[in-house]
Amino acid sequence: MTTDPPRTAGQSHGAFKARIATALRNPILQVALDRNHERRVAGRDLAFAALPAAEATRDRGRAIRLETLSHLDCYLERFAASVERNGGRVHWAADAAEAQQIILDLVQAAAGRRPPGRTTPLLVAKSKSMMSEEIELNHALEAEGIRVVETDLGEFIVQLRGEPPAHLITPAVHLRREEVSALFAERFGMAPTLDVAHMTALARAELRRVFFSADVGISGVNFGVAETGTLALITNEGNGRLCTTVPPVHIALMGLERLVPTLADLEVMLRLLPRSATAQKITSYVSLLSGPRRAFEPDGPEELHVVLVDNGRARMLGGALAEALLCIRCGACLNVCPVFTEIGGHAYGSPYGGPIGSVVSAGLFGSDFSELANASTLCGACRDICPVRIDIPTMLLVVRGQHVAAGLPPAWLRLGLRAWEWVMAQPGRYRLAQRAAALATGLLGRGNWVRRLPPPLNAWTDRRDFPAFAARPFRDRWKIRAAGKAKSD
Ligand code: SF4
Repeated sequence: MTTDPPRTAGQSHGAFKARIATALRNPILQVALDRNHERRVAGRDLAFAALPAAEATRDRGRAIRLETLSHLDCYLERFAASVERNGGRVHWAADAAEAQQIILDLVQAAAGRRPPGRTTPLLVAKSKSMMSEEIELNHALEAEGIRVVETDLGEFIVQLRGEPPAHLITPAVHLRREEVSALFAERFGMAPTLDVAHMTALARAELRRVFFSADVGISGVNFGVAETGTLALITNEGNGRLCTTVPPVHIALMGLERLVPTLADLEVMLRLLPRSATAQKITSYVSLLSGPRRAFEPDGPEELHVVLVDNGRARMLGGALAEALLCIRCGACLNVCPVFTEIGGHAYGSPYGGPIGSVVSAGLFGSDFSELANASTLCGACRDICPVRIDIPTMLLVVRGQHVAAGLPPAWLRLGLRAWEWVMAQPGRYRLAQRAAALATGLLGRGNWVRRLPPPLNAWTDRRDFPAFAARPFRDRWKIRAAGKAKSD
């Protein structure tokens, strides 16, 4: 099993542009993204249209998330106490390195539970967890000789390809069945087929062996319930249930903010999340886990560990990007975003892509990721579709402001904006610049359009024509018109 290469720290303007160009040139990706957009957005709209009091439910969901974040310290304490009362153990990780180390120690300790004589590498069965992507858990475990197998079908596919997930909810959104078929033929010797049921059965057989021989199961957590210590897992494949109940040790990994106060609040989230994510009333499996196996229970893990990860969230909570922590990771804003639907998740170079990902990445990982916020039209579709009404466009502007304040835009753009400011400060300069621009575009263009502008302005004309500046500005024309009217009066 291969895993995608570790993220290299930082982003550069050139690298982001290059990834965008690669995505735009990829016809398979374009088809896959178009299909995803059409299916998901239409399905989500129908699902909400059929939900009684849908708008009130969204308001309630937002209020629950706001309440949780505004008293996060209390709810975290309550949640941790409830988990421990249920027989689980809670571990606090300040950052990615600490979370990796805690989990590595827990997995290595699980070796003590093995039958004597078993010498194969420690095996981890993993169900989908964006937090594990964020902290690059697989690399850390594999570097210590531990075998990690992703068991969500989409994650299984991208892991075999050595790629990170391309979407919060649908990790293999960038692929068609043809690519999966070729992959399975190469990796498992499968006879050529485009039959999805056949391919799924093959993956199922492979994964079943993993579930029953894994030393540890690792899962994410959709919501932790503070009052009861319950871990809610919302899945469609049943792999989450197998990862969390069959191996003798279960490690649940979650961000600090993924809490709701009560089970009644969870019920509201269960109405919002599946409808927004997959257009379902409810997912195939909703697992509510409350502690390890008890003496009278026939199955379940013998140990349950909950790893609560900060990794920049506490810092975000006090700042202008705090609202991004309301996110319930449904992926709806990705599906509707006119930029994401052209470039896909990999172009962002972060585990969190799309509109909310551009905000979260800058908030958690710093200014190396602030450029992502420029990949937005600020159309507001993300805010409109978000089940908890997160004001993403306003935060994208905040991140853009941080990007500029850190002096990160390219030198030509910074100089250009300074020149623009200087020109705009005086009407005389503005008029002169207008004449110069009309002259230049008149020389470069034909008629009212310019086909090709010189670099760096060719970023515009590479994809569309540029309207030439009017030879006579509107102000002059207005003056002439007004003078003519005065004469006729
Ligand atoms: S920001 Fe809203 S729409 Fe986007 S993933 Fe989060 S909850 Fe879903």
